[in-house]
Amino acid sequence: MPSADLIKALKTALPPACILEGDILANRPAALGRSDTIQAPILLRPATTEEVSMVLRICHAHGQAVVTHGGLSGITHATDTTPDDVVLSLERMRAIISIDATQRVAVVEAGATLQQVQEAADAGGLLFPLDLGGRGSATLGGNAATNAGGNRVIRYGMARDMILGLEVVLADGNVLPAMNRMIKNNAGYDLKHLFIGSEGTLGVITKLVLRLREKLTRQDVALVAVPGFGALTQLLRHMDSALGGGLSAFEVMWPEFYRLVTRPPAKGRAPLRDGYPLYVLIEAFSTDAAADAERFNAALEQALDQGLVADAVIAKSQEEVEALWALRDDVGQIMQFGKPFCFDVSLPIAAMEDYVQSITKSIAGRWAEHHLWVFGHVGDGNLHVGAHVLDESDAVRRAVEEIVYRPLQAVGGSVSAEHGIGLEKKGWLHLSRSPQEIALMRTLKSALDPKGILNPGRIF
Ligand code: ZN
Repeated sequence: MPSADLIKALKTALPPACILEGDILANRPAALGRSDTIQAPILLRPATTEEVSMVLRICHAHGQAVVTHGGLSGITHATDTTPDDVVLSLERMRAIISIDATQRVAVVEAGATLQQVQEAADAGGLLFPLDLGGRGSATLGGNAATNAGGNRVIRYGMARDMILGLEVVLADGNVLPAMNRMIKNNAGYDLKHLFIGSEGTLGVITKLVLRLREKLTRQDVALVAVPGFGALTQLLRHMDSALGGGLSAFEVMWPEFYRLVTRPPAKGRAPLRDGYPLYVLIEAFSTDAAADAERFNAALEQALDQGLVADAVIAKSQEEVEALWALRDDVGQIMQFGKPFCFDVSLPIAAMEDYVQSITKSIAGRWAEHHLWVFGHVGDGNLHVGAHVLDESDAVRRAVEEIVYRPLQAVGGSVSAEHGIGLEKKGWLHLSRSPQEIALMRTLKSALDPKGILNPGRIF
């Protein structure tokens, strides 16, 4: 339990609206979609950077563990709490501070949701290109802390590539203003990168400067069936080249995932017949309606002629665009059979076919009755894997992890492409990072958070 002294100090320093405890807090779910509840006895929700600073100054003085909460849409248990923790939630710091259309930057508070930021950029005639399924709840602070990826990395990069500056409150309560607005700034170390992707272990992000792009008005989407993995890699290069930089998503579905999202109880229906080796959702974003639609269709026709595509359906209206994306986004269907084990890995595209075959064989060899769904952002080397083998115990989970993670080391892949390490993947970090890298991570952690109060136990 946090000490009575600490609670007293917090209550003296902060306005009552900042503090939640007792029944109001006890019923909060631990994270989105979870049935268990928050375990920490107190949640602090400051409204300003000064109040965040106050919280950390007091917690630091008492050596109190602090778990930071954004939108709680992460899936690596990084935001789980214990009865010994204090929660610091950014939920009241959600302002869009400014949209500067000339400089093409937005300044926002860390608790603003991704959707809020997307809408504000859009209202300002611009685009904030980060996009992922959790947009309605995920916050920009969380997106930065986890270096979120999502669906359009192939075109715009990850969250790291869209953040120009940050304001961070350090573990001891000191505020680090690093609100750079320049795209180019090589004046010494670029400290924002220390905090992006640090999963809240090095500081608490309170504000962000975001890079905005020109709004794209034309969206072309097709779902295609591909005759094999060799054709798939050629198709990716062909489309990227033929669309002249317009390719914004290349989302591959292996057959078991395709069947799952196109048959009842899923709401989606199959636009292409079942039985092809692979399905790909291809999207291009651009600005010139007529010319770009023509180019998109021509690129697909060439792919058909070259045998890279066996069959294709092109969306002809916004409803059809949404229906095709809805298939890819209907990931929740993997819960049909119980709670699957979910993975988020990356590996070189040349190694993917063998990798998927090898994990399929290992899982089928060990558990006769099983489901294995593979899908993901193949253009970025990122696969999502869902496995259900009836037994949901921790021991079985570990055995499945061994099958999914171990082969990544030999091909230089990652045990976490975009979801982070959190508490869940700590035991596997060494497969993707050298001992020297992990040692330097620990050095940075002890330099910035000597008492180890920020999200303790995450990553390593
Ligand atoms: Zn993803």
